Amino acid sequence: MTRAYNFSAGPAILPEEVLKQAQKELLDFNGTGMSIMEMSHRGKDYAAVHEEAKANLKRLLNIPEGYSVLFMTGGASTQFSLIPMNLLSDGQTADYITSGAWSSKAIKAAQKIGTINELANTAKEIPTCMPKNEDLQFTDGAAYVHICSNETISGVQMKEFPDTEAPLIADMSSDILSRPLNVSQFDMIYAGAQKNLACAGVTLVIIKDELAAKSPDTLPELMRYQYNLENDSLANTAPTFPIYMIMLVTRWLLANGGLEGIQKMNAEKAGKLYETIDGSDFYKGTAKVEDRSPMNVTFRLPTEELEAQFIKEAGAKRMSSLKGHRSVGGVRASIYNAFPAEGVDALIEFMKEFEAANA
Ligand SMILES: *Cc1c(COP(=O)(O)O)cnc(C)c1O
Repeated sequence: MTRAYNFSAGPAILPEEVLKQAQKELLDFNGTGMSIMEMSHRGKDYAAVHEEAKANLKRLLNIPEGYSVLFMTGGASTQFSLIPMNLLSDGQTADYITSGAWSSKAIKAAQKIGTINELANTAKEIPTCMPKNEDLQFTDGAAYVHICSNETISGVQMKEFPDTEAPLIADMSSDILSRPLNVSQFDMIYAGAQKNLACAGVTLVIIKDELAAKSPDTLPELMRYQYNLENDSLANTAPTFPIYMIMLVTRWLLANGGLEGIQKMNAEKAGKLYETIDGSDFYKGTAKVEDRSPMNVTFRLPTEELEAQFIKEAGAKRMSSLKGHRSVGGVRASIYNAFPAEGVDALIEFMKEFEAANA
């Protein structure tokens, strides 16, 4: 069996050790004679998994007192609506920064619910980029400011977060746990699990307790942050297997140098790839240099025909899922935490061969 070099943007590659561990425990978790996904979410075996997943996240991210770690469902996309439903009351305004396709979806969902002020919009700019923090004019007394830290489709990442008086809320679905973070800068961070955390099926929410307390009583309980917080994300059946996967992935990160360690590896992987793009007249990066993402590397070839041929030939060499998002085209190499350095080397070698044969 050979594993593919899987450049998928999400659901994405998982560390091989993690998959092997999950495989080993699949039929008999902890001597129970059953899989983690076949047992009660209220039993002691699952409880230990739930606690370790939270504890590992707290350790990796240095999450301060006064914040809670929640495991929710519905993906990051459901958070686009739950955030204004919980945190934006009548008469208030929420500030949004639109920097690409995902933050565009977030603002559209919020506009259905309350009054929104769009502080900046770079979603249509080419080269793709993040708005500049110094250009932002925040609303006085805004309920919150919403950002997306990494735009998965266009391949841009926020390097410095805006300094806001209002609570700062970030969609970190595609770069959570890829670099050290000062959690106290944020009041809420959320991420769908299927890019850098685990498999699909759970959404991580890190929220300041005082913010969660604002959830209105009029909302259905399961949609209220406060209710999820009070019930330790176990008000109803939790997505136990994806949370177990978070536990294994965070264990793997802790054993491999934590977030400083992974950031260094991510910078090396992305650095080599961007160097190859910059060193050639054949490949052209699509993001502004200062904003480009170490997670999703986006580039173009001289023609769409060459792009299609590139993706096809790469696929034949077991380099899969290099096609850019259907909305933008081009090539996208998603190289999340779990993506091995050898895979990046293989792609670079192939890029050089392809250029030599087709330039
Ligand atoms: C993938 C992605 C989402 C959507 O996540 P779902 O879990 O599919 O709802 C939202 N934001 C960003 C930045 C993403 O990369």
